[in-house]
Amino acid sequence: MKKEREETRTHIVEDYYCDECGEPSRNVWGHPYVCHICGRHFCDKHIHRQYDPWGGDSVDYYCYSCWDIGEKYRKEIEEIELEYDNKKEQKEKEWHFEAIEVLKKEKKI
Ligand SMILES: [Zn+2]
Ligand SMILES: [Zn+2]
Repeated sequence: MKKEREETRTHIVEDYYCDECGEPSRNVWGHPYVCHICGRHFCDKHIHRQYDPWGGDSVDYYCYSCWDIGEKYRKEIEEIELEYDNKKEQKEKEWHFEAIEVLKKEKKI
């Protein structure tokens, strides 16, 4: 025997709000904006978007507190990257130079 009865289920919906101003934290897909470092939620106005410096379409989100603290670190990181690039370039030049010298000595070129 089958009997039908009505059952009401509770459906939990999570809404996120900006930790700065209390406005809803929601992007176009309905997901909240989350700071990459502290994990708090922010609205459109209170989140900083950091686009991929290499031109890709990835984007990291930071709250302004975490982003501002990072200023000196970002400068240092930039310097390290520059130094690394220069060293790498130098080593490649040395390698290419030596390769050509070896062939010259062996009179192959
Ligand atoms: Zn806000
Ligand atoms: Zn943060």
